[in-house]
Amino acid sequence: MKTEIKQITPETLVEAKNLILDGNVVAIPTETVYGLGGNAFDDDAVKRIFEVKGRPNDNPLIAHVHKDYDLSTIIDYDPPYAEKLRKAFLPGPLTLVYPSTGKVSPYVSCGLNTLAVRVPSHEGAQAFLKELNIPIVAPSANLSKHVSPTSAMHVFEDFDGKIPLILDGGVCEGGIESTVCDVTGEIPVILRPGLVTREMIATVVGECGEYTPNFKAGEKVKSPGLLYKHYSPRCQTLLFPATDVEKAVAICLRECENKRVAVLCEENVLSAFESFGITALNLGKTPTEMANRLYELLREAEKVCELLIAVEPTQKDGVMTGVLNRLRKACVSVDIQH
Ligand code: AMP
Ligand code: MG
Repeated sequence: MKTEIKQITPETLVEAKNLILDGNVVAIPTETVYGLGGNAFDDDAVKRIFEVKGRPNDNPLIAHVHKDYDLSTIIDYDPPYAEKLRKAFLPGPLTLVYPSTGKVSPYVSCGLNTLAVRVPSHEGAQAFLKELNIPIVAPSANLSKHVSPTSAMHVFEDFDGKIPLILDGGVCEGGIESTVCDVTGEIPVILRPGLVTREMIATVVGECGEYTPNFKAGEKVKSPGLLYKHYSPRCQTLLFPATDVEKAVAICLRECENKRVAVLCEENVLSAFESFGITALNLGKTPTEMANRLYELLREAEKVCELLIAVEPTQKDGVMTGVLNRLRKACVSVDIQH
């Protein structure tokens, strides 16, 4: 199959619509990362998404809808606080998990009785969703476990020959996946951190919890995606705490004698490595800058080095919660190694 990359125009939107209605998957841009889109009502299209990504079949998908879509078709109960959240943050990088009406394909939520719904703000994504006027499941358009894509070229690298069309909507502004927030209970609970933070949600509705899976007790995990290794570059990785820059420099100097080594760290730590001539990838200064650059740099790392030494940024809260969550899943932490 030939994989084409096309700019979003009225003509390519119709082409994408026809492909989707025929059961194909089409990659689409969003403000977070690129998604691999398919018809949420079509069992075979949903199964095809799991197959083409190599995604574990217990990791549910998010249904994407346009901003005027009638949610009552797909969600069964809508607590009053969820409406406040939609007003405050949507369209935008916040996914809400509701009780499902069960109208979409059962493969979407992998047997859960809930449905994750997102309304992306990206203009091209909105135009695509309006054109179709049905919920579109769209997990990140990367092979399972690989780094999420923030450009059409990243999608092409993973799916050349496997999907017919990539709609090119430029480089994603956000850079990490949406915040996933459960709204099935008394208060909202964050299942996956992202650009809409726990603090921002609490400001709007008073309270917001954060879910941490209890792996040891063998409890059923609320959001199965939390279990998997994710976002990983195809090179060795080692992640150091922000306080261990000196140790990271020492390991770099030892390892670069026999391998190509690169470093990934925030801007004000760069000079500690650059003064030894080590290739350094600059995550940036602010949390939003770091979210925006993270995946691009992890994909660059696998091209330029065999070992990536990453150093955690100093700031940990707000948007950095989401950035750190991805960085820790992408890289092997020094604590785990020893
Ligand atoms: P991705 O599509 O790769 O961005 O991943 C989607 C994320 O949303 C995963 O972490 C899933 O576990 C989570 N998710 C999707 N649907 C549900 C649901 N019904 N309940 C809880 N988490 C969900
Ligand atoms: Mg993903």
